[in-house]
Amino acid sequence: MSKINLRTTGDLLLAAQDLVLCCHVSPDGDTLGSALGLKLFLESHGKKVTMLVDDKLDKSFSFLPGSAGIVCPREGESYPTELLVVIDASSWDRIGLVADVVKPRHILNIDHHISNTEFAEYLYLDTKAAAVGEIMCDLFLEMGWAYTPEIALDFYTAISTDCGSFRYTNTTSKTMRRAGDLLDYGVNPMIISDNLDMKTRATAELFAKVLPTLTFEKEGRIAYISLSNDLYDENVSTEPFVYYPRYTEGVDVAIFFKAVEPAVTRVSMRSSKTDVAAIALSFGGGGHIRAAGCTINAPLEEARAQLLAALGKVM
Ligand code: 5GP
Ligand code: MN
Repeated sequence: MSKINLRTTGDLLLAAQDLVLCCHVSPDGDTLGSALGLKLFLESHGKKVTMLVDDKLDKSFSFLPGSAGIVCPREGESYPTELLVVIDASSWDRIGLVADVVKPRHILNIDHHISNTEFAEYLYLDTKAAAVGEIMCDLFLEMGWAYTPEIALDFYTAISTDCGSFRYTNTTSKTMRRAGDLLDYGVNPMIISDNLDMKTRATAELFAKVLPTLTFEKEGRIAYISLSNDLYDENVSTEPFVYYPRYTEGVDVAIFFKAVEPAVTRVSMRSSKTDVAAIALSFGGGGHIRAAGCTINAPLEEARAQLLAALGKVM
């Protein structure tokens, strides 16, 4: 593994003629916007670019330029390529089935997670960047590459997603400057509220069923909500759910437990003080200090007990 700088990252991308870009599973605006903007740029330079995402895409992302060209790989397929670029994923298992089907000669990982496992041959890691979208802007500046309005929209969405529309502590003056540059290419910030902040009626109705599970522990410093397996629907986004307990007075750690199978529970954590990345890592997951997640192979109640016990030791 070698840690490389921005210039080497740009040179590696320019040297390849045939590339596969991939995102992490449960893709968010950062992984998708960053990969899509880069895809559009590389294609305009005559390169063959395939973008693989092992997941169903929420339809709220369809406004992202280039998103119609995203490919969901199937088991048994094979994608030989000169260079695989893994975007916003901190470990090899975060790309799902892509790991099995892609046959790369070289692997480049562009990431900003503190939990990065250094799995790739080449790594560009900036844990101070609020989003990989911000790294993409750094890269374009360093290389003198030009934005188009489409690329600018993809990168703006990437940045805005990961810094909570410039409200989280990871937002720096550079984050805002990079996003500000993108506005000069015609991005309308309202695109975020009109697309990504908009929830479907199904999501709102599901939330109404989940909210009664709201529970406080540790004198209200922990708050969690749970979605039991009988309510789980893979077609209904639950992305905003964890923010309800998160923005409740006195809460440090907010958790959303989602039973995606009778004995598999997905955990999303947000915090104001506690290092939830460390907790997630101890369960085989990862993320950032204030936003992290993991999957626990246990039914809802058991997973919840395990996680709360681990959390209780550090709080
Ligand atoms: P979310 O709660 O939105 O699913 O994830 C919050 C953050 O933690 C994101 O940066 C996401 O990439 C990371 N994360 C969530 N689940 C996992 C996981 O299972 N493994 C790793 N390595 N990171 C995760
Ligand atoms: Mn990210």
